[in-house]
Amino acid sequence: MRLILFGSPGVGKGTQAKILSSKLKIPHISTGDILREAVSSKTPLGIQAQEIMNSGELVSDKIMIGIIRETLMSTKCKNGFILDGFPRTIKQAESLDKLLAELNIVNILFIHLAAEEDEIVNRLTNRRACKNCGNIFSLNDLKDTSVCPACGAENSFYQRDDDKEEVIRKRLKIYEQSTAPVLDHYKKQNKVVSVNGLLSIEEVTKEILTELEKKTGNPIKVSA
Ligand code: AMP
Repeated sequence: MRLILFGSPGVGKGTQAKILSSKLKIPHISTGDILREAVSSKTPLGIQAQEIMNSGELVSDKIMIGIIRETLMSTKCKNGFILDGFPRTIKQAESLDKLLAELNIVNILFIHLAAEEDEIVNRLTNRRACKNCGNIFSLNDLKDTSVCPACGAENSFYQRDDDKEEVIRKRLKIYEQSTAPVLDHYKKQNKVVSVNGLLSIEEVTKEILTELEKKTGNPIKVSA
């Protein structure tokens, strides 16, 4: 199965992508994670991307298309993938369509997680990531903010620089201007499934799987 998870920053794409990756046994390709790894290992890409990411702007289409081309052509993606964070501009979407045609991939589906701006700002300002295991939590759900409930690491939570309120507002503006048109691009291709991203994590996953079954007309095999 080949999926694109789409929605505004903070709608829960990363969380759903991780769950679906494990249920459907396909790799989760997050362009944000690829860039953050490059930043923390201080590769030339990371050095170039760091400032742009911290300011909430988008990294250039040329760089992002190069990363996705290399990743989708690698053997780990040959039986499927979930893209999270790409495409984010019409140019990226058009390049992705060309690449998929080159790879003879026709059965791609686009999952749109919908949410309202105020709820997103609230979610993102409360979002914390664990330095140790990479899992993401909301301050609203953490009983003890000094221990990661997933891996047990102590004092490992941090707030991403791009999750500060003024940067979030900017990211949402860029989303509306550059990224939202990508949804129409795939709607025209009749490939979009829309789900309410404000439901609980479990409900969103369930809705996605139900909508995918409806769209494909086939039962979806999931691992526990
Ligand atoms: P994310 O974790 O998906 O919210 O991405 C974090 C940041 O990485 C974004 O705010 C951008 O600066 C950069 N980024 C990730 N994916 C892309 C993309 N497809 N195009 C441009 N910039 C991206």
